[in-house]
Amino acid sequence: MDAKTVRDVDVGGKRVFVRADLNVPLDDNRITDDNRIRASLPTIVYLLEHGASVVLASHLGRPKGKVNDALRLRPVAERLGQLLGRPVRMTGDALGPGVQVAVDKLQPGDLLLLENLRFHAAEEANDPEFAEALAGLADLYVNDAFGAAHRAHASTEGITHHLPAVAGLLMEREVDALTRLLVRPARPFHAVIGGAKVSGKLEVLEALLSRCQAVLVGGGMANTFLAAKGIELGKSLVEEDQLGAAEHIMSEARRKRVRLMLPTDAVVAPQIHHRARVRTVTIGEVPKDMMVVDIGPETLTAFTEHLAKAQTIFWNGPMGVFEMPQMADGTNAMARFIAGRTAKGVVTVVGGGDSVAAVEQLGLADRMTHVSTGGGASLEFLEGKTLPGVAALLPADAEIELDGGSR
Ligand code: ADP
Ligand code: MG
Repeated sequence: MDAKTVRDVDVGGKRVFVRADLNVPLDDNRITDDNRIRASLPTIVYLLEHGASVVLASHLGRPKGKVNDALRLRPVAERLGQLLGRPVRMTGDALGPGVQVAVDKLQPGDLLLLENLRFHAAEEANDPEFAEALAGLADLYVNDAFGAAHRAHASTEGITHHLPAVAGLLMEREVDALTRLLVRPARPFHAVIGGAKVSGKLEVLEALLSRCQAVLVGGGMANTFLAAKGIELGKSLVEEDQLGAAEHIMSEARRKRVRLMLPTDAVVAPQIHHRARVRTVTIGEVPKDMMVVDIGPETLTAFTEHLAKAQTIFWNGPMGVFEMPQMADGTNAMARFIAGRTAKGVVTVVGGGDSVAAVEQLGLADRMTHVSTGGGASLEFLEGKTLPGVAALLPADAEIELDGGSR
């Protein structure tokens, strides 16, 4: 990437503020998926091994500027400690006199985790004073939080006005992998898009039409496209207010000669429930009292046959309600198919919270070229948007001067 990274700086004896994305899903204080913590390890370990003292910070959930005991980073500190094989100390707040005392005591090789940044409204408001105070804790700033890079917050953007700012190893890996989709991707480049809704993904759909040779649409999102073509879908999730948007995408696809594939059959159920009975129907024959919950086998075959021609595949959004086993076949088969293409030399990239979770659950993450830790950030990156957290980093050819000296 065109930014300085931790490897370009002599970090020995320096105090380093690392913004990581440790925003993991929690079920009553239990971490249900620790991938973001694992993905943050290389940068933390690199810095500690090179003699830096690390002040680690992250957000967790949406506390909206107030202290929320259910969103404390304690479980993250514990999991991080297990992974590092040493206890991880943490502060009771992201900022304040107690934090300064704890930071002052840090020795080379020490690690301190700050409490949830978003307990302070100033974080998301990108408050300049808050940013400056965070910067005051360190000599160098490292952004490894790709998943938060599409937000200009105090810890992702404001802080870079006060400290030399470089990329962490995860940030570098994410940007490099996603850049491969933007800059001369091997063709054909096909995208598979699913998930619940069209709204929220319109911009990425438009962007993909300019970059891809085919866009395959599944999941609940496909319903809105089918409904726009006048197809009855019973009780299925259809965004009535997005029918025009779906029509626009379809006409853009025709104009740009991009193949836009929609399901021709579907798995339907009376409701989304773990005991709901499912069956397969042709897309025009969804019963009035049933809803589409997955793509059908005929669709899967058509999708994968077309995808087999691709040299680059990007996948975002599950093909169905994969949380229910009887509605997960389409998503699971898609994950297996795409993973199988990697071994054939195809560049395979998965981005998006739920699609990534599906891939992880199947143990297929290692068999993809890249699995992004950033949901919204990866989509905005593919839209060609500048991510504020990335733009704020020092360019690769910048000179770095660290004040503070050795500690
Ligand atoms: P991602 O996080 O990968 O970007 P989204 O958040 O857009 O994906 O969508 C994921 C959600 O979409 C899942 O919770 C899944 O149950 C839901 N979903 C997929 N297909 C359907 C469908 N046919 N009807 C209702 N919900 C669906
Ligand atoms: Mg999601």
